[in-house]
Order: sequence, then structure tokens, then C-alpha cells
Amino acid sequence: MGQTLTEKILDDHLVEGDLEPGEEIGIEIDQVLAQDTTGTMVWLQFEALELDEVQTELAAQYCDHQTYQFDFKNTDDHRFLRSAAGTYGAYFSRPGNGICHNVHKENFAAPGKTLLGSDSHTPTPGGLGQLAIGAGGLDISVAMGGGPYYVEMPEVVNVRLEGELPEWSSAKDVILEMLRRLSVKGGVGKVFEYTGPGVETLSVPERTTITNMGTELGATSSIFPTDEKTKDYLDRQGRADEYVELAPDEDAEYADEIVVDLSEIEPLVAKPSMPDNVVPVREVAGESVEQVMVGSCTNGGYEDILPAAKMLEGREVDMKTEMIVAPGSKQASEILAREGWTAEMMAAGVNFSEATCGACIGIGHVPSSDSVSVRTFNRNFEGRSGIEDDSVFLASPEVAAAAAIKGELVDPRDLAEELGDLEAPGFELPEQYDGSKTDIIEPDEAVDEELVKGPNIGSAPIGEPLEADIEGEVLLKMADNITTDHIIPATSDILKYRSNIEKLSEFTLSRVDDTFAQRSLDADGGVLVAGENYGQGSSREHAAMCPQFLGIEAVLAESFARIHKANLFNFGILPLAIDEETYEQIEQGDDVEIVTDVAEAVASGETEFTVRVNDDWEATAELDASERERRILEAGGKLRLTKEQNRSD
Ligand code: SF4
Repeated sequence: MGQTLTEKILDDHLVEGDLEPGEEIGIEIDQVLAQDTTGTMVWLQFEALELDEVQTELAAQYCDHQTYQFDFKNTDDHRFLRSAAGTYGAYFSRPGNGICHNVHKENFAAPGKTLLGSDSHTPTPGGLGQLAIGAGGLDISVAMGGGPYYVEMPEVVNVRLEGELPEWSSAKDVILEMLRRLSVKGGVGKVFEYTGPGVETLSVPERTTITNMGTELGATSSIFPTDEKTKDYLDRQGRADEYVELAPDEDAEYADEIVVDLSEIEPLVAKPSMPDNVVPVREVAGESVEQVMVGSCTNGGYEDILPAAKMLEGREVDMKTEMIVAPGSKQASEILAREGWTAEMMAAGVNFSEATCGACIGIGHVPSSDSVSVRTFNRNFEGRSGIEDDSVFLASPEVAAAAAIKGELVDPRDLAEELGDLEAPGFELPEQYDGSKTDIIEPDEAVDEELVKGPNIGSAPIGEPLEADIEGEVLLKMADNITTDHIIPATSDILKYRSNIEKLSEFTLSRVDDTFAQRSLDADGGVLVAGENYGQGSSREHAAMCPQFLGIEAVLAESFARIHKANLFNFGILPLAIDEETYEQIEQGDDVEIVTDVAEAVASGETEFTVRVNDDWEATAELDASERERRILEAGGKLRLTKEQNRSD
């Protein structure tokens, strides 16, 4: 039987296990990336593992999420990251050089290689045939030390693209259509592999917009085959020699098939406040818009901004609307400036931001209260923009620019008809991606040879071995779809403590209940209860590390998001699945006791755990964990376990 492209790449990198869906496999990692909010812990953990130098083919550290260096803490973090990259042998992309996914795509992403990144949108370079997976920071540290990465073998789903996108529809609309059909849970445990005649109609940047937002489907990864378009993109980036031809076998068997006819895709938006809340723009036309933002790792490329620039040429942004362009990389900014588009957009009333994540996580450009913001980003979770009652619509650059011109949501096809002289901008790559490379420090140009830590930089916390008893109060009962943004918000006032776990943990789940952290400390720990898809969203391991610091020993949830569940194991917190009835019955404040001897049950491979509530009623909770994950739990987390293993080697 033939193999899918995903299976071929995994097979090439397999070090443990079989390629059976649901089985845990260990794979060799070729490249790793870290961004600044997760990166400090990546390197502090690398230091705690007492490793000397990066063992992967390539490691890259980016400074992208928080580049507005409001106070010394942030600047210190960036200096620490530069020193860690220099000390251990990684590339260092300086603050302002751009978002990790964009800069990695431009400089390093390579077909057929594996990439592990401490950011949930790491799958972005799947658009050029790289198998890229997002993971927690500790997994990155271990992979960087040469250890395999363990993941559940995903099901591979064939997304067959047919036809060609019509004018005014874009790659963003393709992935919004996928979200409309499949929801934010539709990709859990899956890799979406794009095939079919529609593939060759899409350029690499369009493909990476689709693979980027595979993350919003909950997918492990998304990938395209390589072809002339891939070769052409790498050539324009000056990396033609990295091209490798990759395709699934003709008789490859997929777990499922989804057919998307590109010619039927129309301009869409995701309404507040979930990326799968997707409707045609026409359904919400007329909604007044106060802010428009074009940029992010989804649509921050030169090619993404150009359509908006062309639509604005000779026009003006509506007087009540503010439009901001935040390019995804300095390369994009440079080319736009050199070609005169920056001046053209400025003349139309657009403001420019440096190349940063910033506004995507509520750092800068926070919308005004009770107003609509239309963004080309990938997430619109409630409060993520920096204001609790936000109203963020996700859209393509064409829909965003149309909203800026009209001052309200409008289908760009209708706007073109209304204006008479507005032409569809199409999608174009620059002749050559010739942005400067001065903002990447190569390992052999390193300016630091030892770690430089400011006063806000602590050390990586190391957990305690699992005990026999888990007993405590339900400190918080939460609903479905709690995101890692709920657990540890990524806003600037909080994020600045990312290298200082004691301080950061004070903000744990503060968006759900601002008394939680103090109550946990007072109670000396306890358990959490949640509904479905607990921990969806970003890969940030602080969302497990801080609860661990507060003494949380178990999370009882109806289901868990993939990366967060791995992070719970990594930090020694027991993730137990409960059924809907138990979830309904259990209340905040209840006393919970796991009757089973937990340490022994975890060690012996037990899957069912009896939970006694208020000494009154009992329920069964399930532990779905591999042998390896059980060993991690027993040890009190992956850091302690890996240290012990390294010592005994
Ligand atoms: Fe940055 Fe937003 Fe992309 Fe995350 S989703 S990498 S915060 S631009």
C-alpha cells in the first residue's frame, strides 16, 4: 500500500513506534524554532538539562510577540535570548525582524524536513512541504538536545482541492471555509494533507495561509506537496537548492477525504469570538467598523498586504475607521517600501506598525470599547485583542481593505460594483524577495558566549515526584473551550513576567476568576474541572507550569487540546477525562479524592481512576497516557525525568 506524504516524512524520521493512527511515535527533529514568550523557558530548561549545545540541524530563536520593550524586563528577555542563542549555537532573529513563522518560512523552512516549534502556528511551512508541529517549550528543549519528539500518530485526511479561486476570494477564505465545515475541534488528532488539481493554482504564500490556520482546526499539522510553485518560491527567496520534490504515492490511503471546490469559495468572515464562527461577508454587511488591521503570521506577507495596497491606491480610509498594517516580517516591510506601496498606503490614511505579533495578542492597537475590529489574523478569542468585550472579525486582506474604504463590513464584490472602478487586486509575488538579512545573527557570528540574565529572569521550576494521594478542593469549574489565553493571558502587563514563574502564576486563570491564584495558594493546591477542549489555542507551557507552581495536581475535563495535554504531562499534572454527567454533577468547592493509589496506578498502566466527591458519590475518570507519559508523570514532570535520564547515560 502506498504512503501519504505525511507518512513518508514521518517514516524517514521515525525512531520509535509504528505509523498506526493513535499510537505514540518518536520522531527525529531536524529544525526547531522558539518565539520570545515561550523562548526564555525553552532556554532556561535547556540550561537545567545541563546540555552544552544545540544538536538539531538548525535552531532559530525569534523575538516577535512582544517587541515593544515597555520596560527593562522585556529588553532583558531579548538580551537573554540572544545570549542563549549565541551560547548554545542557534540563529537569533532580532526584535522587529518579524514573526517567527514568516521569518522561518523566508529563511529556513525546507521541504521534507521536520520542524518542532514552541508556538502553535508552527505548521505554517507545511505550505512548502515541511512537516511542522507545534509543541510546548520543554519538548523543544529536549528535541534541541537531540531527543526524539513523541506525538500520537495522527490520522491523515486528504483535502482535495478542485477548481480555481474566483476574483475577490482568497486562501484565507479557503481555510475559513474549512473552519465553517469542521469547527475548531475538527482537526484534533489529524494532519490535513492537501492534494488535487487546485493545489497548483495556489502559490506558496497562499498555501501557508491555509496551513497556518490548520491550527485553528485543532490539527497536528497541515501539509502541501511540492511542485513548480514551491521551486519558484524558494528560487525567489534565493534558496532554490533546497527544493525537494515531494508527493504522496498514487495509491496512498487516507483516513478521510474532504473535497473543496475553490471556484465556489466566496469572501467569508469569522464573527466574534471563535475562528469557526464563519459566515459569508454579505450576511454581516453594514456592520460599522472602527478598526482594520492587516498583518500577522497568517496574512502578513508582502503578497498579503499588496492586494490591500492596490485597493487603497488613490482612495482613502473612511474617516471613522483606523487602518493599521503590521507586516509579518521586515522583508515584507522593505519590499513594500522599496516598491512605493508604503507611501501609497500612508497617503490613503494607513498607519504602519513594526513587524511584530503585538496586536494579535492584545499588545498595542487595542480596539476601543464596544466597537468592531476587522483583522486578517487567525484568532478572535474573546479578550485576545486586549479588551474583554471585544468584537473581532477575521477576514482576508481584501475584505479588510474593503471594510476600511467603506467604514463598514462589505463584500468586496459589492463594493467594486458600487465604486465602479475598483478592480480585483489578484495575488502576486515579488520578482525577488530581496529584504536584507542583517537582522539575523548566525551562530558563528554570535555576540555573546555566555548567558546574560536580568533580575526578572528566574530559573525553570522542577516538579516533585507523583504521590499516592490526590485530594483537594475543586478550585475552579470552567466551561467548554477554555483557551491557554484564559489560563495565562498574553497581554503585555502579564507577559513581562514570563521568565519569572512565581510572579506570573499570580495571574493564572485571572480572566476566569481573579481570586483563583490566591485561593490555590491558600488551599495548598487542589484540582480543576473543565468542559470540552480544555487548553485550546497557543502552545504556551506557562499554562501548565503556573498551575503546577500553584499546586494543582489534576485537571478533570471532558476533553483536552493536544498541545496543552502534552504540557500537563510535562509539568506533572494528571489530565483525567470525565464524562458529561460527571462534569454536570461536580461543582466548584466540592472535595475531590482520587481513591486509587495514583502513583501506583500511573506506574502500572491503569486507565480508570475512581474519583470520590464530597465523600458522597463516585465517578470514573480516565487516563489516556502512553508508557512514556506515565513515566513523565511519575517523575513529577519531563524536566526532572530528562535530567535523571541524562545523568544515568
Ligand atoms: Fe504571533 Fe498571532 Fe501568529 Fe501567534 S497567531 S505567532 S501571536 S501573529
